[in-house]
Amino acid sequence: MLWLLNSAPTVDGDVQELIVEDDETFQLIQNLGGRPGPAAVEALRAVRDDLHRVIRGTDDTGALQRHLRGVVGRPELTEGGVTWQPDFSGADEVSARVVLAWSDLATRLPGRVRACANSECSKFLIDHSRPGSARWCSMAECGNRLKARRHSARRSTV
Ligand SMILES: [Zn+2]
Repeated sequence: MLWLLNSAPTVDGDVQELIVEDDETFQLIQNLGGRPGPAAVEALRAVRDDLHRVIRGTDDTGALQRHLRGVVGRPELTEGGVTWQPDFSGADEVSARVVLAWSDLATRLPGRVRACANSECSKFLIDHSRPGSARWCSMAECGNRLKARRHSARRSTV
């Protein structure tokens, strides 16, 4: 999930699109039950962009609803009772599976998936820290850089 969220990083001020028609993306699409090709690449970008807006709070979770269109639950009776298995046959399986994975993550770690606090960075983080106060996609990439910048800004005002 984090790879998908971070598949449009900002490098030197420009957003780099990492979801392109290459072996890595096609493998991911195949793993998500899709058929590799331009349409699946577009679908993957679209659901990622919707997730970005939802996580940043510029859109509500309703923005993800369209990706679940056509998904139905199929009951499966086991020793432990009925469980519901998603049936993707009438849906765009790639983007639907992404939304289900996101839902699972957001349920297990509520509020712990967020955008990096560096405004020049477009990456995301999953906060596994005990206090839930992680702010950077990585300390090496963004945390230390901003701390150093703040430190030199303080020094220059003295
Ligand atoms: Zn960052």
